[in-house]
Amino acid sequence: MSRAGGASSASGLARPLPEPRPDLGLREGYHSPQLPARVRLNTNESPYPPPPEWLEAVVSQARDMAFNRYPDRSARALREALAEWHGVRPEQVFAANGSNEVLQCLCLAYGGPGRAAVLWEPTYALHSHIAHLTGTKVVQGQRRADFSLDLDACRELVSRHRPSLVFLCSPNNPTGLAEAPSTVAAIVAGSEGLVVVDEAYGQFSSWSALGMVGDDVPLVVVRTYSKTWSMAGLRLGYAVGPTAVVQALERVALPYHLDMLKQAAGRLALRFSRQMDQRVEAIIAERERLEAGLAELGAQVWPSQANFVLFRPPGRSGGDVWQALVDRSVLVRDTSRWPGLSGCLRVTVGTPEEDGVFLEALAEVLA
Ligand SMILES: *Cc1c(COP(=O)(O)O)cnc(C)c1O
Repeated sequence: MSRAGGASSASGLARPLPEPRPDLGLREGYHSPQLPARVRLNTNESPYPPPPEWLEAVVSQARDMAFNRYPDRSARALREALAEWHGVRPEQVFAANGSNEVLQCLCLAYGGPGRAAVLWEPTYALHSHIAHLTGTKVVQGQRRADFSLDLDACRELVSRHRPSLVFLCSPNNPTGLAEAPSTVAAIVAGSEGLVVVDEAYGQFSSWSALGMVGDDVPLVVVRTYSKTWSMAGLRLGYAVGPTAVVQALERVALPYHLDMLKQAAGRLALRFSRQMDQRVEAIIAERERLEAGLAELGAQVWPSQANFVLFRPPGRSGGDVWQALVDRSVLVRDTSRWPGLSGCLRVTVGTPEEDGVFLEALAEVLA
């Protein structure tokens, strides 16, 4: 047995450690501080646990798993189940450890040095971050003041930079806005590169780009179990797209990246879609209550198609309001210094009780 060294090494090998790549920092202010709080409405998780019957099914299958063996490298059963769920072929489905890993694989396969990715701010910060980490040049367009896309400006940006990747997020995090089908179609039609539509909040929205996916359409839709499925702790996400794109993603994923327990858990979850739908419906109803409560307090509220609401509190600066809420043990996301979001905060839809505590605390802060 050898022990890792303490402050100094007796081996005589001590020297200054090499510096990591200097460009690894996440955009300032992105990380949501993990502060202890009574009510945590900062990371868009579901406030409800997954159905207990699902956990029982997973545990029962786990008993028969051969953990001494590697898992099915192609996650065939999971991909078949997801394909059936979405009405596509298993060859059109790629699964990974959270949709963030799907996005990373997309950047590894289609981005990289000498290539560009285009996206429109404000949007999900990890699109630019992951692209950047893979050496992909990031081109940031801007949304209009109402967070919609100016299609002429989009076309102009895409034809000027000829990106190999174009990121959309619908519904968009952190604005809550879903793109119109015609917008997604226009961007697919106007791009040479692969268009990625991140639908992490897809089931909360009235429209999905999944219907546009086809083997001869340069479009990939990315989904996750983290939000609508109440399974952020599982770390499972997937892409639905052309067979050739899925093959490219398989080439950059690490072998056996999806463990057997997760493959089974994701497949079994699909048997409980009724419970998932119930959770989604409850959250949508609660979202409407939250939006109304915020408007009543004089906040500017952007109508949301997701499980969170972007709002701008009246009178005080967003950062001050965020801190005053933390002081009352309520944690929301401080987006007030993100580009285009000055003064704004983002609150995740919680249980009626949690949202009640949040609204009360906010009323106190604004009084
Ligand atoms: C939460 C979120 C994800 C989720 O990532 P996972 O790695 O699947 O947990 C992906 N995209 C967007 C836009 C999100 O808000």
